[in-house]
Parts: sequence; C-alpha cells; structure tokens
Amino acid sequence: MSLIHLEGLSKVYRVGDQEIRALDEVNLRIEEGEFIAIIGSSGSGKSTLMHLLGCLDTPTAGRMEICGKDLAKASNDELARVRNREIGFVFQAFNLLPKLDVVSNIALPLIYAGVPSHERLARARKAAADVGLGERLSNRPPQLSGGQCQRVAIARALVNNPRILFGDEPTGNLDSATGRMILETFDALHASGKTIVLVTHDPAIAARSRRVIEIRDGRITREYAP
Ligand code: ADP
Ligand code: MG
Repeated sequence: MSLIHLEGLSKVYRVGDQEIRALDEVNLRIEEGEFIAIIGSSGSGKSTLMHLLGCLDTPTAGRMEICGKDLAKASNDELARVRNREIGFVFQAFNLLPKLDVVSNIALPLIYAGVPSHERLARARKAAADVGLGERLSNRPPQLSGGQCQRVAIARALVNNPRILFGDEPTGNLDSATGRMILETFDALHASGKTIVLVTHDPAIAARSRRVIEIRDGRITREYAP
C-alpha cells in the first residue's frame, strides 16, 4: 500500500464570487522512503498540495489516502491526529518561537502529544544532537544563524518521529552554501528511511531529490527522475 494515494484531488478556493481552482484533479502515489521534489512556478498550487498532503486542509473533491486512512472528508480532530503522529513540517521562515531556547522549541510538538516533561527534554536533546545542535541547547533563535534556525526547525519536525517530512521552500531564506548544508541534512534523513517531500521553485533543489513532480495551474504536467 502506498503511503500517500491521491485520486482526482481538487481544491477550489472561493474569494467573493470568484473561484480559484488551485488544484485540478491531481493523481499521485508516494511510497514509503521516497525523496520527492514538487516543483512549479509561483501560484501553481504547490503549497495547496502540501497543505492537503500534510493534513492541514481538506480537498474540495477527490480521494486522499494518507498512511492507510481515507482523509478526504476527515474532521479537524482526525486530521490533527494524523498530523501529530505521522507528519513533520519545515517552512521557509523557520517559524520558531524567539523567546524559547533551542531545546524548548524542539520539544513543543511533544507538549501537544501529551509526552511527560522529563521525556520531552530527553527527546528534544537527542533531536538537537541529531542535527548537530547539541552544543546550542540553551540559545534562543535570535542568537543563531539562519542555517542553525532551520536545523532547530528540522529537529522540531522530527521529534515526534514522523513517517513523512514536508518542507515548503526550506532553503528559501538561506544563502546557497547554508542551503546546501540543509539539503545534506535532508539527504541523510532520506538515507535513514524517512519519506521526504520538498516543495520548491528551485531546480537545483529538485535535482537533489529522487523524483521530481512538476505542477502547473494546479495539474501535474511532468514527472521525472533528476
Ligand atoms: P504556490 O505555492 O505554488 O505558489 P499556492 O498553492 O499558494 O501556489 O496557490 C495556488 C493558487 O491558489 C493561487 O492562485 C493562489 O492565489 C490561490 N490561493 C492559495 N491559497 C488561497 C486561499 N487561502 N484563498 C484563496 N486563494 C488561494
Ligand atoms: Mg507556496
């Protein structure tokens, strides 16, 4: 069984009396352990697709099966359950809390998951060490470089041990050398068995994946191995 299976997936946004067809009958299967880049120009529907795959939103029409569950018409609670257990997110803007130190930022998802505090700390420390931040546990985000902030965000995404890691333009705010280091972190995670889906408009990032899916005007127009 595929980890993710989409059939005829559509998402229509209504703004006033206007309809925006952000996704238009997308069919897609993603297998466990894949490293995929979703590529397309601005406004093509990449973030919309990632929000659906990441259980942040439901489609207007179509089938959406994630980790064996049919989620096309799921309630917010059902979506939250899958999201908290199976999915990690990394965003372009890091989205860290500036007043919390590294270890507390990383531990945040464990609070929502109801993990007791001593275990939260131990798991956050290990996740920080896994991304090379073991020495920066008590720093706060304003004291860190962009690349270090993104590694904190990756550790936070991984602390629940999710099956799928999504990144929406994860190197978009970084210089190219730092961006390459972050991509090496994704490479290592892929090698360790994680399923990785990166959304990007940058062909150089897509070239690091194993399968590129190009979308245009809400439709998959091309698929290739880089
Ligand atoms: P991308 O991430 O590739 O830039 P998006 O998925 O953000 O593309 O957007 C796809 C289309 O849907 C665009 O036309 C965008 O303006 C529209 N859109 C995205 N989110 C919303 C929303 N919440 N409400 C209305 N329109 C939206
Ligand atoms: Mg986007």
